[in-house]
Amino acid sequence: MNTRRILAACLGLLGSLAALTPREIDAAEPFHFIQLSDPQLGMFTDNRDFSQDAANFELAVNAVNRLRPAFVVVTGDLVHKPGDAAQIAEYRRIIGKIDPSIPVYNVAGNHDVENVPTAASLAAYGKLFGPDRYTFRHEGLVGIVLNSSLIHSPAQAAEALDAQERWLRQELRAAKDGNAQHIVVFQHHPWFIKNATEADGYFNIPMARRAAYLALFREFGVRYLFCGHYHRNAEARDGTLENITSGPVGKPLGGAKSGIRVAIVRPDQIEHRYFELGELPVKIELTPANAKKP
Ligand SMILES: [Zn+2]
Repeated sequence: MNTRRILAACLGLLGSLAALTPREIDAAEPFHFIQLSDPQLGMFTDNRDFSQDAANFELAVNAVNRLRPAFVVVTGDLVHKPGDAAQIAEYRRIIGKIDPSIPVYNVAGNHDVENVPTAASLAAYGKLFGPDRYTFRHEGLVGIVLNSSLIHSPAQAAEALDAQERWLRQELRAAKDGNAQHIVVFQHHPWFIKNATEADGYFNIPMARRAAYLALFREFGVRYLFCGHYHRNAEARDGTLENITSGPVGKPLGGAKSGIRVAIVRPDQIEHRYFELGELPVKIELTPANAKKP
């Protein structure tokens, strides 16, 4: 490339940068967040104690403080026995070690609000952990947190399910109207494990509600659904929708390994990778793997 062409290329680049507002330039900076799922204190020994669960959780929390994500989402099953005071105190003690400058977003799991939530179990969760549905924002990412136990098993809480669905539509509309770069849904139950038409089971959202919600997500441009509950990893797609099911910080199932998931948010996509607790990274490299070396 000769000097004149280099100069012309530089001027062109300056011209396109000038067309961006400062807010858009900020939004284009990649950042990362960390998903912790199912610390589920008490699961290793079926509630006899929680020493192993706590050791895993401490390791994950230490990694959070070292890797300094923009935020952390704990996708449910914070404890194993709903309402257990000792398990909840231990959860709070360990999650409380995260540097206060890193926001932590709790998600309700079925072990937090019971397999079939009731008005009483929902109120108890709210008292302990705050709202079971909310929206947060970081740069151009809008995170929508749902209580998926309501969607999985609404028999005793039909009104709460309806209210959550009405609220979800409003939040999706607001995120889209606000030109969100990414609208990301966080919840405990996977929408699906292998494919969007698989049979109903303990681990996925029943088809009676699954299809309608997936259609709603598509309508508003949601592409990423981050979930837990399965105690092992599963990544599955349905068209433009990606359901990312993350293995547990706590006890794994099916020969899996405990770990954490790191997601790198770029303007056009979200990359993510699961790290087992024995191979946690020292730092997160935000430069794309295919970027040219200087
Ligand atoms: Zn669960």
